[in-house]
This record gives sequence, C-alpha cells and structure tokens, in this order.
Amino acid sequence: MAEERKCNDTSCTGDCSTCKSAQREPESLLAKLNDYSSVKHVIGVVSGKGGVGKSMVTAMLAVLMNRKGYKVGILDADITGPSIPKMFGINCRAMMDDNGIIPVETANGIKIMSCNLLLENAEAPVVWRGPVLAGAVKQFWTDVNWGEVDYMFVDMPPGTGDVPLTVYQSLPIDGSVIVTTPQDLVSMIVKKACNMANMMNIPVLGMVENMSYVKCPDCGKEFNIFGDSHFEELCGEMQIMPLGKMPIDTRLTELCNVGEFERFDADYLKSAADTIEKANR
Ligand code: ADP
Repeated sequence: MAEERKCNDTSCTGDCSTCKSAQREPESLLAKLNDYSSVKHVIGVVSGKGGVGKSMVTAMLAVLMNRKGYKVGILDADITGPSIPKMFGINCRAMMDDNGIIPVETANGIKIMSCNLLLENAEAPVVWRGPVLAGAVKQFWTDVNWGEVDYMFVDMPPGTGDVPLTVYQSLPIDGSVIVTTPQDLVSMIVKKACNMANMMNIPVLGMVENMSYVKCPDCGKEFNIFGDSHFEELCGEMQIMPLGKMPIDTRLTELCNVGEFERFDADYLKSAADTIEKANR
C-alpha cells in the first residue's frame, strides 16, 4: 500500500528526515527596520494591566540610560493610551522626509515616536481594531528613521492580547522589564505577562515594583498604601530578578504634568538601568 502523504508538497514521500521542505526554518515574522536606522538593543517594558506605571518606568529607564551617555529612543507601542510625549513636554507633530518619519527629540536628545505625534488632535481617541493597532506599531519600526540608537525602550501595550503578541513577534526584543504594583490582583495578572514573555522566548531581565509605598514628607515614615509588598516572594516564585522598588512620588507626577520628566533626581531605578546595561553591552 502506498505511504500516506503528510504534507502539501507534491514530491512528499512521507519521510520527513530527507525532505527539504520539512527542514526549512519557520518564516520569521520580524518586521524590517527602517533602512536609515541602526538599533543595537531593544528593551520591552511590560505590565499585565494598565495604570501600574509602565510608561513611568519606560521613561525613567530611558532617561537614566541617556544620562549614562547612550543614544536612546522610546517607541510608544501603547497606542490607545500614549502618555510618553506629554511627560517630555512634546506637543508638536512628527515630520516626514524621503527617509521616513522623523522621531521628535526631547530636550536631552531622547528620540520619541508615539501615535500622538501623528494625530491631528492629541485628544482624539484611537478607535482601531487589533490588527490596525498592531500594524501601527510595526510601522514605528519600519517607517521611522531612528538614525543610530543604542537602547530602544518599547512602552508595550498592556495585557496579553493581539497587539502585544504582534509587538513581540515583529520587533527584535532583547529582553523585557516587567512592572507590577503591590496588589494581589496585579500580581496575578503580572504572572500572565511573565508567562507570555517566556512563551515567546523573550528573556525577562527583571521586575520593578512601582507604587510600593508613600513616604511622609514631614516625618519620613513609609506607608504601604496598597498593603504589604510581596515583591521578593513574587520574584522568587517567578524566578525573576528584582530590579527595584519605586514609591508613589508626587514630584514625579508634577514633572510629568509640566512635561519636564527629564529633570527628575530620584535614583529608584538605578540598579535596573545598570542591569540593562550589563545584560546588553
Ligand atoms: P501605565 O503606563 O501602566 O498605564 P502610567 O505610567 O501612565 O501607567 O501611570 C499611571 C499614572 O500614575 C500616571 O498619571 C503617572 O504619572 C502616575 N504614576 C505612575 N507611577 C507613579 C509613581 N511612582 N509616583 C507617582 N505617580 C505615578
């Protein structure tokens, strides 16, 4: 009896060990970087849910790496909640030339691309379906002339849906930093984000706990307003390196409000920046 054919190849003999089609590498889904750009390292900043401070951590890591003398970019992939431009006081629109869309630079030279830099009205809601959102993020990689960048921070869309999936598949992410807060609900969801990174074979560089506590400006006492932190336990359980804790600090919010985030002088994420530097030299 003739061997049953197992694939669509017309020359299939049923023996995959000698077949070229079967041994072909799976097609890469990585998007091609803009021809005029060179990006050395891509770091994704991830959270399971919105509002935990993912953009705050992205911006702070970008500023710290910029202060170390690196050329830094921020790709704001949080298309429906883009907060990065406002934090840096950017309210102009991005321009374009023959080589691509030109990212807007902050006062200290961090290059930024965000959906809000392309919209006519920054307050207009982005009511797009998943594939369109994901396509926009890909275009930030293919159509933006980033020039030379040492560290590109990607403010990832929250959650584990269509858009983060496409970002993971389309951009060559070297490692991710996970952001959590000290609430059981958030820890539960953050585990999903860690597991997604693992499934996609993206190394997790470590985890940051944001909004860990509030320090009283008068007596210096720290209050755990979201309850006691289980950060170290969570990191141990997930086998992820703890990269630092950041309190709720109203000075940071004020700097965001006036678009002068680059002026912060807190060192909460110093060890996170050092880890990124060591992991991606
Ligand atoms: P996400 O990107 O996860 O949605 P954001 O970074 O936009 O979250 O933060 C949500 C809000 O909380 C913002 O208004 C931000 O300024 C504020 N925020 C985040 N982290 C801190 C912090 N450590 N101290 C003070 N305000 C913070």
